[in-house]
Amino acid sequence: MAHTHTLGFPRIGARRELKFALESFWRDGMKADAEAPLRETGAALRRRHWQLQAEHGLAHVAAGDFAWYDQVLSTTALLGALPRRFGFDAARLTLAQSFELARGNAAQPAMEMTKWFDTNYHYLVPELDADSTFDGGPSWFFDEIGEALALGHKTRPVLIGPITYLWLAKSHVAGFDRLSLLPRVVAAYQRILAQLAARGIEWVQIDEPALCTDLDARWLDACDTAYQSLGGLGIKLLLATYFGTTAPHAARVAALPVHGFHLDLVRAPGQLDAWLRVLPAQAVLSAGIIDGRNIWRTDLPAALARLRPLHDALGDRLWLAPSCSLLHVPVSLETETRLDPELRSWLAFATEKLDELRVLATALTHGEAAVAAELMASDAARQSRQSSRRVVNASVRKRLAAITPQMATRQSPFDARNALQRASLKLPPLPTTTIGSFPQTPAIRQARAAHRRGELGALAYLERMRAEITHAVRRQEALGLDVLVHGEAERNDMVEFFGEQLCGYAFTENGWVQSYGSRCVKPPVIYGDVYRPEPMTVDTTRFAQSLTERPMKGMLTGPVTMLQWSFVRDDQPRAATARQLALAIRDEVCDLEAAGIRVIQIDEPALREGLPLRASEWPAYLEWAVEAFRLSASGVADRTQIHTHMCYAEFNDILPAIAAMDADVITIETSRSAMELLEGFGAFAYPNEIGPGVYDIHSPRVPEVSAIARLLERACEVIPPERLWVNPDCGLKTRGWPETEAALTNMVAATHQLRARLAA
Ligand code: GLN
Ligand code: ZN
Repeated sequence: MAHTHTLGFPRIGARRELKFALESFWRDGMKADAEAPLRETGAALRRRHWQLQAEHGLAHVAAGDFAWYDQVLSTTALLGALPRRFGFDAARLTLAQSFELARGNAAQPAMEMTKWFDTNYHYLVPELDADSTFDGGPSWFFDEIGEALALGHKTRPVLIGPITYLWLAKSHVAGFDRLSLLPRVVAAYQRILAQLAARGIEWVQIDEPALCTDLDARWLDACDTAYQSLGGLGIKLLLATYFGTTAPHAARVAALPVHGFHLDLVRAPGQLDAWLRVLPAQAVLSAGIIDGRNIWRTDLPAALARLRPLHDALGDRLWLAPSCSLLHVPVSLETETRLDPELRSWLAFATEKLDELRVLATALTHGEAAVAAELMASDAARQSRQSSRRVVNASVRKRLAAITPQMATRQSPFDARNALQRASLKLPPLPTTTIGSFPQTPAIRQARAAHRRGELGALAYLERMRAEITHAVRRQEALGLDVLVHGEAERNDMVEFFGEQLCGYAFTENGWVQSYGSRCVKPPVIYGDVYRPEPMTVDTTRFAQSLTERPMKGMLTGPVTMLQWSFVRDDQPRAATARQLALAIRDEVCDLEAAGIRVIQIDEPALREGLPLRASEWPAYLEWAVEAFRLSASGVADRTQIHTHMCYAEFNDILPAIAAMDADVITIETSRSAMELLEGFGAFAYPNEIGPGVYDIHSPRVPEVSAIARLLERACEVIPPERLWVNPDCGLKTRGWPETEAALTNMVAATHQLRARLAA
């Protein structure tokens, strides 16, 4: 039977069992004697997922892909490379301590968290310096391998490779060269592999997704060095790359002394040709042919057509797999009972993807007749999706075809708009505002949940939300803020709220995907042409504006963020879907303007994370992403002020694209590295108005007036004060009211100080 496998499986559980076990352990104070239920939940999930893989005929089960919090943190523990500031003994690391690394404790802030390549999964960034040691940590990894072996599974351990591990790491010491640690890291991997060999392990999967990024010669040299030392240890290595192409250095990677290579043939099908030219005669090629990043059913006959010549050429050396770990898709369709049956028939979650592997392998080995029914079902799903009336909407297509460059351009350049906006809004210098959401109190959540369950009628719910809005407006007026917001009480999620009101979007019941630690997201599914059947925020915003003389800021989620945080169609380019979303939001922007709203914010926090892994592909992405934003924003008159907001990413390398979005005002999170970002915006001479966040909203600590004033003064040194706004870093929905009011009071006070100084 053709060899099938998966690079990893979601560990959170079909019913998010791991999440609930973790959160209860944390809530109860992480006492050592409370570990047992958590450990048992983890073990049960591993058992279940291995069993599932075995039942689907996978040649080995993936083990060691489990993590209590995050796979990079697990690797840090396995290597014993804990940040020293915590003072933990790596070899005796407890579960509770590992969670302190991830979440912080009374003495130490948490390890930094950031996005895993171009996914919405977040990992904990290894913290390394010249004194870092790699003498090994707790035995968790080996215990898990032992568990799988004891259950009788043919087991293939999964490790993050040394190059990717170092590439993901950071140092607090400026100028520190992570690669100087390579010999120590490689020695640690040698010890790990030797231990696995001693247990009789034949194959180890070693993940090097960093090879799909722009590695310079030093990193490629380091890769050679590392694998020269890891190749000959009596254990076979499957070098796994994913999320992009390795073609630029295929020959070099192929020459490494490993026994197999996994390629992502969904994201980067074109690399196959390069690889077939250089694949060593004995090496395994693992074809990542099933999309591990999306939820669509595979077109199995088409996949077979691609695989057959490979199978003929490579025989047993061809392995079949999902493109990457299945961590990025939900566990199973089985619990989706409310999805429309036609739409459901187009989908495959992790478990269904294992079944697709089984069908492909059977067809290759025993002929298509052996799986005729499955292949027919796959083809029927493809046909139904292609021709379904719910997918293609002629009027959306017509509108898309009629888009002109003028539609993505404001009527006048910024300076002319700015004069009109000043005259209309009459704001003081250094206007103060917030990013949109105010505290989502338990009462608000309960009202929303009751409304969803049908226990709170539409009218009662509307009244509750209006009361919240009134409350938020009154408090903002009392605080003396200049541009107000309605507070977003009615929104649980900035994408879901809009997706639910747009055609072309579907929502799953249990389509949870791990985002970080115990946190999961349920990305909506864009399955068809997107359009806005009716206004989405106009009533609410108009009501909010009716409560105050001050400008009320309309609050929308931008097209790129809507795209980025959804499962998107794979039957048209992302750019086309972005354009459809842009038109839908444009309609809303125009309707808000017509309702008398003079300031409209279109949030794009996810614009940066859509950047391709290779810089050569950045310009094409940025072009359509910026165009989509502009299309959404440019339907209004010059005097209407468009804001955008971005946060929690590096922005310095895309400043020209941010400027090209041509928002009248950008509010941007700066708590991560206030100065670096401001200097970036100063050096680039950002042309429009800008509100650098003046305090971190993730901390319950109330910022001091003097700290905010200092930050504002520094901002004034690089950005002309007449273009400066004052605002927090991001939305305030995770905070409570007392700290929010205290922080905003200080923010306004600091602003008054600076205004007085500027006037003097
Ligand atoms: N307007 C949103 C809010 O205030 C923005 C959230 C975000 O940037 N992620 O919550
Ligand atoms: Zn934000």
